Amino acid sequence: MTINTPPQPIPQHDITSLDETLRHLSLVERLAFVAGLGSRTVFTTSLGIEDQVITAAIGMHRLPIDVATLETGRLFAETVRLIDETEDRYGLTITRFHPEPDDVSAYAEKYGLNGFYESVEARHACCHVRKLIPLGKALKGAGFWITGLRRGQSGNRAATPFAEFDSDRNLIKINPLADWDIETIKAHVAAENIPVNPLHERGYPSIGCEPCTRAIKPGEPERAGRWWWENDEKRECGLHVAEATQASPIPASRH
Ligand code: SF4
Repeated sequence: MTINTPPQPIPQHDITSLDETLRHLSLVERLAFVAGLGSRTVFTTSLGIEDQVITAAIGMHRLPIDVATLETGRLFAETVRLIDETEDRYGLTITRFHPEPDDVSAYAEKYGLNGFYESVEARHACCHVRKLIPLGKALKGAGFWITGLRRGQSGNRAATPFAEFDSDRNLIKINPLADWDIETIKAHVAAENIPVNPLHERGYPSIGCEPCTRAIKPGEPERAGRWWWENDEKRECGLHVAEATQASPIPASRH
């Protein structure tokens, strides 16, 4: 593994090697391994059940990973309360990244505050202002980005690797729960008494902004309640639809 050896780019086989290494480790070992590679490592949490599992591991094992969340201004009150509760529980700081007020005002002027219901373009514009720009700030200077993506969350995520190159953000994205299913997540949360969003019990397996999330019906896919008025089965907010690939190089100077 040559993740930390500047200055030449990290070749594709090293990302493939990292993916293979992580495959054989436990969750805590995966996180600790990446955090030990020498680059700034950032975990962005939405406070969903998967992300709470990762936050608990970081907090309980005092791993040198920065924890951040995108406080969009449209979150459920339950989610906002869980940020504070999680910080208290694990003695860590979850850094809030907010949208710029001027960007929000410009969006509202052009589309209306809730204009995201009117078109996919308007919805993407809102996610850009409230999520993507703050995400860029959260990941500034990071070499590794930890996420709670799982293969079982949707067909769009079925091929999620443990390590992939994010060419848009020029970093390596790490998905340490890629191979966990929802039942394993729930069992782990119960065994470790990890605090979770009470909305999960009310039919919200996936929780985003309040106006864009509804409870799902029995038998619906986990993410069916996200932007439910859109027809595209691959709908995402743009955080995880970059040109991610395991086959692209990354400048070693970032690491
Ligand atoms: S999920 Fe909805 S409210 Fe939140 S940023 Fe995207 S469009 Fe805006």
